[in-house]
Amino acid sequence: MRINDNFEKLPEVYLFSEVAHRLKDFKEKNPEADVIRMDIGDVTLPLPKCVTDAMHVAVDEMGTTKGFHGYGPEQGYEFLREAIAFTDYRRRFINISADEIFVSDGAKSDLGNLGDIYSADSIVALADPGYPVYLDSAVMSGRGGELQKDGRWSNILYLDCNAENSFKPAVPEAHADIVILCSPANPTGMVFTKEELQKWVEYARREKALIIFDSAYEAYIRDEELPRSIYEIDGADEVAIEVRSFSKTAGFTGLRCGYTVVPKRLKGTDADGKEVSLRKLWNRRQCTKFNGASYVVQRAAEALYSPEGREFVKMATDYYLENAGTIRARMVEAGYTVFGGTDSPYVWIKGKNGLSSWDLFNELLEKYHISSTPGVGFGSEGEGYIRLTGFNSYENTVKAMERLKKPEAGRN
Ligand SMILES: *Cc1c(COP(=O)(O)O)cnc(C)c1O
Repeated sequence: MRINDNFEKLPEVYLFSEVAHRLKDFKEKNPEADVIRMDIGDVTLPLPKCVTDAMHVAVDEMGTTKGFHGYGPEQGYEFLREAIAFTDYRRRFINISADEIFVSDGAKSDLGNLGDIYSADSIVALADPGYPVYLDSAVMSGRGGELQKDGRWSNILYLDCNAENSFKPAVPEAHADIVILCSPANPTGMVFTKEELQKWVEYARREKALIIFDSAYEAYIRDEELPRSIYEIDGADEVAIEVRSFSKTAGFTGLRCGYTVVPKRLKGTDADGKEVSLRKLWNRRQCTKFNGASYVVQRAAEALYSPEGREFVKMATDYYLENAGTIRARMVEAGYTVFGGTDSPYVWIKGKNGLSSWDLFNELLEKYHISSTPGVGFGSEGEGYIRLTGFNSYENTVKAMERLKKPEAGRN
């Protein structure tokens, strides 16, 4: 058989394996070093009791004739879709109903799968640096075109993010069919204002483009002026799909649950120029290729909408935000140019004197025994930066940042 050649065109992902390799190497040479992981891309706090209680109850139900649940609705159980539509949207005066919510096993799957519903020759626009899933899925589905000498794909419209635009992708001159936006962003921690998002909604209307809005980190937003949902922008329900996750907000990275909002007013056009409901297409796609998230996990997600659950999400995100704020403050104090770290668990730091990402990575590791993620791994515009995260414990975060005061303190 012939393989999908697009896989061969994809360069090896070597970012995380290279970080692991360099850490291992360093530890072998410095066995006494206490390296603090500030590169963690996963949450670390355990699940709250209301969530584990809900799962215990659901597990016991499954063992009874009356409470057994087999295949559930592909779109998710009504109890969870209602809780999401009410708490995350209508309570915030956003008009989204339960039948526009599609529960899934996480945002990553949905972000990769959405490509099924739009044309194979769509021009995809995405931020550089950005979450690698967007680009790699576009390439796998043949929408990348060819990899050029400069490391960029011929059919991708790159939205360059840099210090000049505060790492927030600006509306381009060129046309795109699909625009993938992430706010608060991974890896830069930057958050769109309503005005900035408004410009993107206008762009999408003008270009008849679809916006895919990844708001996996919306629960980290504390500034009341910043939009947590793209549907806070007028008219966005005619141009945008929103993808969310319980992973980074409620510790579900191992449980797996997220959801995607496809509003009824959202339309695409077919080859004859006829308008077609994207909700209908996504529903068809999910019913064909997805058999629903597990009942037990959906009960766990439902528990997040109880008073205890909501308190936990607030507590956990506050905890990581406090860490990110600590990192941000200390790095600024140490004279670094810093982005993010407020309304986001990510802190994006520029190396001094034009240091490359990997040089800064080495410097932090060797001098301070702190591990980081080189920004260049998220796109060529990330060169010269590193990402630190607020996902370690508060104690370790403070300890790591104290080391920046006295270099020799790392060598304990
Ligand atoms: C972690 C992450 C996701 C993936 O979330 P899952 O629901 O765990 O698949 C999606 N988008 C961004 C930007 C992320 O950082």
